[in-house]
Amino acid sequence: MSRTPFVAGNWKMNTDKASAVALAKAVAAGAPTTIDVGIAPPFVYIDAVGQAIANSTVLLGAQDVYPEPYGAFTGEINTAQLKDLGVKFVLTGHSERRHVIKEPSDLVARKASAVYKDGLILVHCVGEKLEERDAGKTLNVVEAQLDELKPSEMTDPRRLVIAYEPVWAIGTGRNATDDQAQEVHAFIRDAIASRWNRDFAYAVRIQYGGSMKPDNAAGLLNRNDVDGGLIGGAALKADSFLAICKAAAEAKKK
Ligand code: PEP
Repeated sequence: MSRTPFVAGNWKMNTDKASAVALAKAVAAGAPTTIDVGIAPPFVYIDAVGQAIANSTVLLGAQDVYPEPYGAFTGEINTAQLKDLGVKFVLTGHSERRHVIKEPSDLVARKASAVYKDGLILVHCVGEKLEERDAGKTLNVVEAQLDELKPSEMTDPRRLVIAYEPVWAIGTGRNATDDQAQEVHAFIRDAIASRWNRDFAYAVRIQYGGSMKPDNAAGLLNRNDVDGGLIGGAALKADSFLAICKAAAEAKKK
């Protein structure tokens, strides 16, 4: 079984309603259908964006979720509410949530469990800070973040996606080299094989994220263990996002 590339756009706290709908429609009109393409708008525009892409193959995503099923959690959103709007995938552990919003690892782990258990595609983000890379701790950091996932709960590899996003590459214009990305992606696949098994690990998609752009996408996406991208800045313009999607579709053909 070969892996279907998955390219997802993380719009973060950008767009207004009109520009979100326009961007979503442009992505829906141009997205290749041979790979998985998804977009994760701000919560408040999920409904409008979902309607804009309703007749397309583009997957609707959410940038975050709260791990309790319902109740007194002011300001939070649960998995059922996301599914109600047609959401298919949810990000957990994004570096901005870990390091800017200071979300602790145990909460990230609870979120990952809730997303998977409720039938959604889990896109679990891992990645080291620059000082951790410089101190030779990249693989230890990534391994600890993979420990947030529970093999006994997560049995379908098609609903588990790992996004390797070196923190120093996110929004900085400085992407990991193809070799740096491949090294960590291969490590992640091995770590998944030792936690689950080889077949499961082979089927899990591992996205690269961190300043992926049309001009560096093909090099990254052609590496063996790079199965797509999680795209921030370049996902805010349809032409750059679609160029990355096209590069992923081309990489698959090789
Ligand atoms: C991200 O936010 O997940 C990301 C990869 O951002 P950027 O592409 O802007 O580096």
